[in-house]
Amino acid sequence: MRGTRIATFALAVVATAALVGAQTAGPAPGESLSQSYRGSQSRNVEYQKIAPFKVMDNVYYVGPGSVSVWLVPTSAGLILIDTAQEPYVDFVIDNIRKVGFDPKNIKYILLTHGHLDHFGGAAKIKALSGARIALTETDWNFMATQQANAIKNGRGPKPGDEAPAKDMVIKEGDTITLGDTKMKVYILPGHTPGSPAYEFTVYDNKKPYKGFVFGGPGPRNGVEGGTEFLKSIERLEKDFADVQVALNVHSFLNSYPYPNNMGILELRDVKAKNPNGPNPFINNALWRQWLKDAHAGAVKYIADEKAKAQKGQTN
Ligand SMILES: [Zn+2]
Repeated sequence: MRGTRIATFALAVVATAALVGAQTAGPAPGESLSQSYRGSQSRNVEYQKIAPFKVMDNVYYVGPGSVSVWLVPTSAGLILIDTAQEPYVDFVIDNIRKVGFDPKNIKYILLTHGHLDHFGGAAKIKALSGARIALTETDWNFMATQQANAIKNGRGPKPGDEAPAKDMVIKEGDTITLGDTKMKVYILPGHTPGSPAYEFTVYDNKKPYKGFVFGGPGPRNGVEGGTEFLKSIERLEKDFADVQVALNVHSFLNSYPYPNNMGILELRDVKAKNPNGPNPFINNALWRQWLKDAHAGAVKYIADEKAKAQKGQTN
């Protein structure tokens, strides 16, 4: 009897521990799955290590749960879009192997903007592969200035998170060609001073679609950044309303979340449930709705920032 009671007690302890575990390693109340990776689980390193997955014939997600790293195999080697940062860089490199490619074959690392969570692993992956690292002139300078200021303030980068040395400078209208793949470069500032965007053809069962990586999908830097961001959104609405596959830089976009909670991980799960059905990543309506939300959000952001600046003047 006594033995049974102890055993029951022990079981209860185990069950409680499992429950606590379940509560900390998963979406918090009110959070969507993708959102949890940038919210309640953003510092949960093991939780961030999700399995890599195929999105299109020529696009794989190989990043941690919160930051996208897109792998684009071509007929002449690999293109990597962003790298994530430590402590995830070896994980990203392993993911590339897991989906069947050799990270030494990376020829280009295309950065989406000069923020650490996107460029942190660039120097390490370049050392491994000899890849060229591409970014706009403005964001190369922005990245270097940010790092210099951080060092001045005694908050220099952790080992492995150093900004890469300036390498390939890309401009509006450039095309980066690797084998059968052409990446067109645009500059759409507002998140950073020179956030690039990349357009390329993606394939689903060999059928071509318009793929697009918008490097800076949320405004920063007050009225000035907000105004630039709104211009970028207006340009997207005018010239890029036909994007079919939006490859976002995060699974969840903090500034303007993807409509209907359709972050990258939700789309992944829809695809996994019905692998022979239509590919949920091909969704022009979702992209156009996001542009509308981002447009309205940018107008509000500018108004709020103007009000803040005025309040600052009258105080
Ligand atoms: Zn950023």
